[in-house]
Amino acid sequence: MRLENEVAVITGAAGGIGRETGLLFASEGACCVLADIDEELGQRVASEIVAAGGQAVFFRADVSSAADCDAMVRVAEETYGKLTILFNNAGVMMADDGDAQSTSEATWERTMAINLKGVFLGCKYGIPALQRAGGGAVINTASFVAHLGAATAQLAYTASKGGVLAMTRELAAIHARQNIRVNALCPGPLRTKLLMDFLDTEEKKQRRLVHVPMGRFGEAAEMARAALFLASHEASFVTGTEFLVDGGITSAYVTPE
Ligand code: NAD
Repeated sequence: MRLENEVAVITGAAGGIGRETGLLFASEGACCVLADIDEELGQRVASEIVAAGGQAVFFRADVSSAADCDAMVRVAEETYGKLTILFNNAGVMMADDGDAQSTSEATWERTMAINLKGVFLGCKYGIPALQRAGGGAVINTASFVAHLGAATAQLAYTASKGGVLAMTRELAAIHARQNIRVNALCPGPLRTKLLMDFLDTEEKKQRRLVHVPMGRFGEAAEMARAALFLASHEASFVTGTEFLVDGGITSAYVTPE
């Protein structure tokens, strides 16, 4: 097993990437603290893991709250004795996120509070726990949109993910000699609730797929496998990277057919 003796906190673990990562990490031997605001779905993921013979607890946490982030890390240490993997994955894409004129201040602030401050707070409380454990891995979910400008505007979301990449690089440099690796996972467009709610018509979905060389949306399980690599000792010399798992979208330009 690739994560034997590891203890992970996974945020946004009730659905999408977080859920699949919880299932995969637990099947690879990690004890998992599943953090999310969605109590019902989160509890269900924990039950699924336990039913399959794995170890997991659900903890209700809003990543934009310092008290909740502090508490979720303490749950890991109190329940499983330590924290060695921190997956800051929770994120939102607000329906009215648009261009500079149309994006409301409220949407800007909520997006930043969850997508950017949430990663900061996870690290603020999680990194001291990794230090107490003698080291570990941090994975921050960014996005391919932090690498490309898109005509389908979502300015607050894109800016928040750019911040996640910048923060990841700096944290990687700060903690590199403490046996703590910090990497970003940059998914391409995925068939998860977050994006399917945003691209809410077939036309919008097809408009996005035009840009993906593989011609399909990615799956949450494919991101979980990438997160597993970054979390595992197989990635022992990997830090500060922006791991693009995107079906080639950032490597191609599109010509009209
Ligand atoms: P999802 O909507 O399926 O899952 C996100 C989870 O985060 C949900 O369970 C939700 O309840 C939880 N969440 C929302 N706000 C929270 C908060 N304040 N505190 C704690 N949990 C909260 O989405 P997903 O596609 O699995 O997204 C996971 C991450 O991947 C996000 O950071 C997202 O921005 C990023 N991402 C997604 C795509 C995509 O196309 N879906 C592409 C690139 C990056």
